Amino acid sequence: MARLQAKYPGEKEYLQAVQEVLESVEDVYNQHPEFEQAKIVERMVEPDRIFTFRVTWVDDNGEVQTNTGYRVQFNSAIGPYKGGLRFHRAVTPSMLKFLGFEQTFKNALTTLPMGGAKGGSDFDPKGKSNEEIMRFCQAFMMELWQCIGPDQDIPAGDVGVGGREIGYLYGMYKKLARQYNTGVLTGKGGTWGGSILRPEATGFGALYFTQNLLHKAGKDIKGMKVAVSGFGNVAWGACIKASELGAKVVAISGPDGVCEIPDGITREMIDYMLVMRASNRDRVEDMATKFPQKARFIAGKKSWSIPVDIALPCAFQNELSEDDAKELKANGCFCCCEVSNMGCQPGAIHFFQHNGILFAPGKAVNAGGVATSGLEMTQNAEHISWSGAEVDEKLHFIMDSIHEQCVKYGTQPDGSIDYVKGANIAGFMKVATAMLEQGTI
Ligand code: GLU
Repeated sequence: MARLQAKYPGEKEYLQAVQEVLESVEDVYNQHPEFEQAKIVERMVEPDRIFTFRVTWVDDNGEVQTNTGYRVQFNSAIGPYKGGLRFHRAVTPSMLKFLGFEQTFKNALTTLPMGGAKGGSDFDPKGKSNEEIMRFCQAFMMELWQCIGPDQDIPAGDVGVGGREIGYLYGMYKKLARQYNTGVLTGKGGTWGGSILRPEATGFGALYFTQNLLHKAGKDIKGMKVAVSGFGNVAWGACIKASELGAKVVAISGPDGVCEIPDGITREMIDYMLVMRASNRDRVEDMATKFPQKARFIAGKKSWSIPVDIALPCAFQNELSEDDAKELKANGCFCCCEVSNMGCQPGAIHFFQHNGILFAPGKAVNAGGVATSGLEMTQNAEHISWSGAEVDEKLHFIMDSIHEQCVKYGTQPDGSIDYVKGANIAGFMKVATAMLEQGTI
């Protein structure tokens, strides 16, 4: 860590993600001198390569705009590079390195053969028109297409990149490559190679994992009050499945504040989340404006200020602080399943783990999204599409298996389960072993 801190000063998110994994795997690493000899850790923390490129496009006023695009190809020990694209004003190499690093272990947990990658741009979708989004996606792909391919690197969505953006990106890829290579991107539309349930998969998978964790602790999700953060694709899927399983989602949030929904979110409100996302306004207050009888907007507050049984961070890294964790506990919360990537700050995780609150990390909880991307790749390679029931069954099976891996590697001498250790060690062992077997490259 000291060496990395000196080499990459200021890469806060990246150093935070690496520190968490290294702390978790320290004991097993020391039991494997062959890892040490092959310098597995030193190699694993460095991305294989990073592409950086300029993206120039023209806005609706005819003004030329310049952004920076990136693709971090982190690790290809167990499969081709795989991971989403994030369009957000705060995107930096540090953010994408942390996400690519996390993706490597997450993808290893899915049981599918996928390496880790991440990409994106500091382009800010907020306030942009549909045409501006399209022109940006096209300009971005003009550079990216040379770096990707169905057996090489397969991008997908992430924050700021959903079905619409994947459509524009794929259209430009196809024009440049002159091939109908559906396997080059996942999260595609249903009529042109997308998998049924991919949009819902991250949220559905997160709830299947949460169900397993609760069962293991002798509890049931039925009747529980749940706080979700954000209102994007991941929050949307989580709200659908949580409601289906009989829980009550009483909070969603945005950068502007929280919407409290005392009687629980309805299907109509969940559908409206899609309208809010497509508007690019980035305001959760719009929910309370549309449903004034059901939702109450509280400016400047987070979902963690609402009394609940279960907290599901679904928005952005480090969105839940130690103070938020304390407030959740004081209000009776007993479980936090991190759905966003690295959604909880280290102090919050430490507090949960030392105060009897069940906690599971994003790389296990949210892996259903990329797992279903893996299922989309399989369908594309076979030129077929499976039914929703078939995809759902496979997703459920994968989430059960991820939970089992966490239990296998995370069970402590006192019988409790450390899901952070479990997920990190399971992912690490798989990637480290593959790297060792493939020699010094
Ligand atoms: N961005 C998602 C993640 O963080 C999905 C990636 C993918 O489907 O490739 O796992």
